[in-house]
Amino acid sequence: MTDKVERRAQQAPTRAAAWDYASAPESAELVKLSDEYGLFIDGQFVEPKSGKHFATINPATEEKLAEVGEAGPEDVDLAVAAARGAWESSWRDLPGRERAKYLFRIARALQERSREFAVLETMDGGKPIKESRDVDVPLAAAHFFYYAGWADKLDYAFPNREARPLGVAGQVIPWNFPLLMAAWKLAPALAAGNTVVLKPAETTPLTALLLAEVIQEVDLPPGVVNIITGAGETGALVVEHPGVDKVAFTGSTEVGKSIRRAVAGTGKRLTLELGGKAANVVFDDAPLDQAVEGIVNGIYFNQGHVCCAGSRLLVQEPIFEHLLDKLKDRLQTLRVGDPLDKNTDLGAINSKQQLRKIEELVESGVEEGAQIYQPECRLPERGFWFRPTLFTGVSQSHRIAREEIFGPVLSILTFRTPEEAVEKANNTPYGLSAGVWTEKGSRILWMAQRLRAGVIWANTFNRFDPSSPFGGYKESGFGREGGLHGLEPYLELVPASGGRR
Ligand code: NDP
Repeated sequence: MTDKVERRAQQAPTRAAAWDYASAPESAELVKLSDEYGLFIDGQFVEPKSGKHFATINPATEEKLAEVGEAGPEDVDLAVAAARGAWESSWRDLPGRERAKYLFRIARALQERSREFAVLETMDGGKPIKESRDVDVPLAAAHFFYYAGWADKLDYAFPNREARPLGVAGQVIPWNFPLLMAAWKLAPALAAGNTVVLKPAETTPLTALLLAEVIQEVDLPPGVVNIITGAGETGALVVEHPGVDKVAFTGSTEVGKSIRRAVAGTGKRLTLELGGKAANVVFDDAPLDQAVEGIVNGIYFNQGHVCCAGSRLLVQEPIFEHLLDKLKDRLQTLRVGDPLDKNTDLGAINSKQQLRKIEELVESGVEEGAQIYQPECRLPERGFWFRPTLFTGVSQSHRIAREEIFGPVLSILTFRTPEEAVEKANNTPYGLSAGVWTEKGSRILWMAQRLRAGVIWANTFNRFDPSSPFGGYKESGFGREGGLHGLEPYLELVPASGGRR
């Protein structure tokens, strides 16, 4: 075993030569921002009845981008009434093939305006443009395309059962993938014949509002989609509104628990996609260079603001030192800075509040005795930034091994046997995702059967596809989004009475 590791060490490349990249900024000019945005209710942008607005800023510069309406109780009433009216007057009875046309149009409009969406997503949320351009926007369009395909095939999707829409869906989404989460929520709900009230996160409302423009453009009947901005209080109003039939939430486990309490006994359907503390397990026979890329993608993608991030790295003992050297080398080459620069790997932390949370947890790691490593890199003077960070000497009881940091921070632990890897990987209140790196197919299957996680990636990480269901166990929530499974939470399935929709 040691020989094998030594052979690998000899083959390892010496430290990569320094590469300087000229700046390659994406132009922000194609984004036309308004100073102030209203709420999107019944097909129109309207002033909030609350009379209140709040600012949304660019976390990379701390500059204000726009003022956005804050929906209060009266606004939520109006949005739910518009959704109910649209459902009863048209949407629920529209044949699936007609609903599909609107979804296809939304998908195509997203593609046509993809650069605009990508730049705006990056400006409002701080994520690197190469991620919003190559991941968020294409996947959002793919979701609409995918569910457009199901809209007229519901009877085939659920044989011998009639698929009936539920009514009005109240959907609350987070700030880490604002447009993509809107697509994950809207596409299956609309395909299934429901209408929607969607509440984007306070720090990232702008792409949802641009999506509202697209919805106007494609002539979706007024009231089918209502997008109301605001903070957590607005989200709570949507969740608790008696006119809402189904609640879908993505965000923190803490808020997920409070939502579960709020809907208990109301008869509302509920799906929760919450936090995670995924184990990324690397065996000693893994292709190490590939694994290093997977580890980096697993935890530093989107600044680690990813519910399924591979935030706990479990490394088999014989390769620990060697893998650590490679990982440290790779971290030195990550480019942190202007999210609009096409070369940037790590952008800005989404908000000051999130930065404080990351800092606090990282301090706890140091205080509890883990060893911290951060590459040398210059951070911009303004904005919210955090260096890619890794910890070694982490024990399972450390907060950094148990709590969701939701930042670019990796906790590394070791294991000796596959049984120990499973034990450690499952030692978490969460169960959203996991990764396995090994040459052996049989070991991948053995691990996949034992890991208690909704999604398991093998020799890759953070891969998404609209046809693949996504969701968790335990405190990561319940219900699935994506794929055929993602339609079920938006449908009542009753014994078939004949006839096709
Ligand atoms: P939240 O769970 O508070 O935010 C998610 C969404 O829920 C936002 O739209 C938020 O509104 C809204 N919301 C907040 N409170 C309520 C409520 N009582 N009822 C209904 N909706 C509500 O996450 P945070 O932004 O506070 O982030 C805190 C931590 O949560 C992060 O550090 C991270 O660990 C985790 N998180 C996990 C996510 C995931 O995908 N699993 C996503 C985001 C965060 P608003 O933001 O406008 O106040």
